[in-house]
Amino acid sequence: MNDDKMIDENCRTNGAGHGTAHDPRGTANGAGHGTAHGPRGTANGEGFGTVDGPRIEAAIRELLAAIGEDPNREGLLETPNRVARACQEVFGGMQEDPSLHLLKQFDEPGNEEMVIVKDIPFSSMCEHHLLPFTGRAHVCYLPRNGRITGLSKLARCVEGYARRPQLQERLTRQIADAIELRLRARGVIVVIEATHTCMTMRGIRAAGSLTVTSAVRGWFMQDLKAREEALRLIGIRS
Ligand SMILES: [Zn+2]
Repeated sequence: MNDDKMIDENCRTNGAGHGTAHDPRGTANGAGHGTAHGPRGTANGEGFGTVDGPRIEAAIRELLAAIGEDPNREGLLETPNRVARACQEVFGGMQEDPSLHLLKQFDEPGNEEMVIVKDIPFSSMCEHHLLPFTGRAHVCYLPRNGRITGLSKLARCVEGYARRPQLQERLTRQIADAIELRLRARGVIVVIEATHTCMTMRGIRAAGSLTVTSAVRGWFMQDLKAREEALRLIGIRS
């Protein structure tokens, strides 16, 4: 739990970053506190409500007016509805428990060897700025008693946690915890490399900067050689 680290690198880009250009400061939706989600029923026990389309549309119209735009301008007429529909997708991971994908398991008796899945692409939304961050997740685990999951299930798990208002550090931890919990893996390493639109199009405008986070669980915390081997295979130098 305490072995997470964060490294900034300034020498790589991954070509990611479709951006929405809204600066969220100073908006109001007149409908109470900041989130678009009421404290309604939860799909997964994490306390998230459902995505409220009409409320998003009203908020986006208000946002457009607040930045000095005319929400009734022809090019913007459909924008609130488009944003609302995009939110259904972008925040769709709030309606599920992404760790459940990992319960699709099969046994490969005797296999205790490392399983590594590299370059799982994801897109997420930075919860501090509501701007996208995109990148790749690398997952490595040591199966217990040959119990492994489908490769696509790991990708689904990553996607589920990514499709929420997120922090890269938390995303990394949640994926590692899910693998440890659902597969009872003997060891887990998750590394995420991402480019943050909130860093490239605002603030310090650090174009090309790459944020790398990792989470290490179980055996990899004690066995330095195993950890180095895993990171080498992932392509990260420790
Ligand atoms: Zn941000």
